[in-house]
Amino acid sequence: MKKHIVVIAGDGIGQEVTAVGKQVLNRIAEKFGHEFTYDEALIGHVAIEATGNPLPAETIAKSKASDAILFGAVGHPKYDNDPSAKVRPEQGLLGIRKALGLYANLRPIKLFDELLQASSIKPEFLKGADILFFRELTGDVYFGERGRKDEGSTAYDTMIYSRYEVERIAVKAFEAAMTRRKKVCSVDKANVLESSRLWREVVQEVAKRYPDVEVEHQFIDAAAMLLIKDPRRFDVVVTGNLFGDILTDEASQIAGSMGMLASASVGDSTGLYEPIHGSAHDITGKGVANPLASVLSAALMLDISFGLKEEAEAVVNAVDQVLKAGYRTRDIADSNTPADKVLGTQAMGEQLL
Ligand code: ATP
Ligand code: MG
Repeated sequence: MKKHIVVIAGDGIGQEVTAVGKQVLNRIAEKFGHEFTYDEALIGHVAIEATGNPLPAETIAKSKASDAILFGAVGHPKYDNDPSAKVRPEQGLLGIRKALGLYANLRPIKLFDELLQASSIKPEFLKGADILFFRELTGDVYFGERGRKDEGSTAYDTMIYSRYEVERIAVKAFEAAMTRRKKVCSVDKANVLESSRLWREVVQEVAKRYPDVEVEHQFIDAAAMLLIKDPRRFDVVVTGNLFGDILTDEASQIAGSMGMLASASVGDSTGLYEPIHGSAHDITGKGVANPLASVLSAALMLDISFGLKEEAEAVVNAVDQVLKAGYRTRDIADSNTPADKVLGTQAMGEQLL
């Protein structure tokens, strides 16, 4: 199979981890006789430095012309304490999601048995937890009207959803549930928010088309609590942009480390595959970042964009194997990990496949 992949490594550890993700794609191509070609494009702080624009037009053009995107991260600490900066790395990420019509962010929360102890949650509440999140990406308070009034002393952001936006992500979630344990939990704040009442209404309508799927609705506050109390009760979770942002970071602790979690952003065209972690400038350039989230993102690409199930499984198995062999990056190591099994980013990559 011939495929063209654009690598948008971006900022911070994005550069280091996507290098390993790409290496794994190459090994898969070799093993299974596929031909993957690559191009690179800029985004985020590195794009601002080079072009003044966090999302150059060339990046959008290259992305649209590709079969899939392997993405790293965007962000730079210099913007964190400068709320007045008009041009920001994060605009690159929001912009590319919008430009490519990527409206659904899939985040599988998969706990490798080897990492049971690395999780923040007690193993007895955890073993067997397997959740697939669908976070809506193009609407909500991130894209609603915002501004200042009263001479700048009042600020507002508008939470906004259209029927169409809710329906298309709900359909994706129910379709996925049909291939899993046939349970969907929709998360909103319908006791307070009007946009959540529309959300719930539309999810209920879509649910009627899937009579085999068991549906529940939870408020975001309750869902945040239940995720820690009893993660195994969830199968597919579907929620809006803001609630999904928060809930999936919380859920990352089920899997032990942000460094283990992959995501897929899909929609109308080219899919984008990225770790859920950010640029992590505190460890950038030290060669210690866990590359497995990028590697598992590559596996999602093989599965979802290319339909290469066996190849995707080979990647996940390779991750399982290195963990079983006792290898750990610093973020998933503990006091029982022998020093010679604690590997850096590249060395971990070398152990795979
Ligand atoms: P951003 O602003 O881009 O989100 P951040 O500084 O908030 O970046 P995150 O990437 O969100 O950092 O991660 C938070 C912390 O988790 C990091 O500071 C880092 O120590 C740790 N971390 C994140 N990803 C990894 C990884 N792949 N390997 C090891 N540690 C990681
Ligand atoms: Mg962050």
